[in-house]
Amino acid sequence: MLAVMGAMDEEVRLLRERMEIAGEAVHAGLNVARGTYKGAEIVLVKCGIGKVNAAICTQMLIDIYKPDRLIFSGVAGGLLPNMTVGDLIIASHLIQFDVDLTAFGRRHGELPDRDRMIQSDPALMDHAAKAYDAAFADDASLRPNLMIGTIVSGDRFVKDSDTLRWLQREFAALATEMEGAAVGYTCDLSGLPFVVVRGLSDTAGEDAPTDFTSNLAKVCDTSFRLLDELIPRAGA
Ligand code: SAH
Repeated sequence: MLAVMGAMDEEVRLLRERMEIAGEAVHAGLNVARGTYKGAEIVLVKCGIGKVNAAICTQMLIDIYKPDRLIFSGVAGGLLPNMTVGDLIIASHLIQFDVDLTAFGRRHGELPDRDRMIQSDPALMDHAAKAYDAAFADDASLRPNLMIGTIVSGDRFVKDSDTLRWLQREFAALATEMEGAAVGYTCDLSGLPFVVVRGLSDTAGEDAPTDFTSNLAKVCDTSFRLLDELIPRAGA
């Protein structure tokens, strides 16, 4: 069984409307839909915003539904100068940027006895890249850029150029969001292969709040085109 997560209604809505729902349940206050999409058995849930919600939801899915793979799909703020809204990022690595034990000589994002960088599953990353190729094959003019690299997560909506520059330089990050590293961390502890895929809703600068609001629906459409190809590959 493949678990699919998003943080907000908009990030799960298109899949939820199109999947065949076999059952629904509530666990830890989270609404879980179980069923199939394009022949793949899936469980879909909106986890809510932030790392705490993301970790709770991921662990709940692991304990109750015992998925063998997990995909997180959502939006993020891009951190590189030439990025544009709608670009897609597959996280190869994730870091919790707001973990700060620098007082003990550790690097930002580093916890005792754990790797600073959490890695997405290479096979799922490969499926995601192939899903991108298939999803946008006919549409050269509308094709978003695809980038693969580090995504950072923290409990903060980033909307200023100082922070975005810091995230880029400290972590060599492509994008910032609020759940991915927590999902990855939780999956890692249970040995569950996962991948995080994000569409850029904004570029994390001063305009981010208005960009986020005006682009959310459109970017979720783009991400869904990727999911539509990724789910049958990852769930096979
Ligand atoms: N609409 C919400 C707030 C959204 S928070 C409200 O009513 O309060 C932003 C969400 O999109 C988070 O789930 C996060 O993962 C992602 N995101 C997009 N752009 C981001 C940015 N610039 N900084 C941090 N998270 C971002």
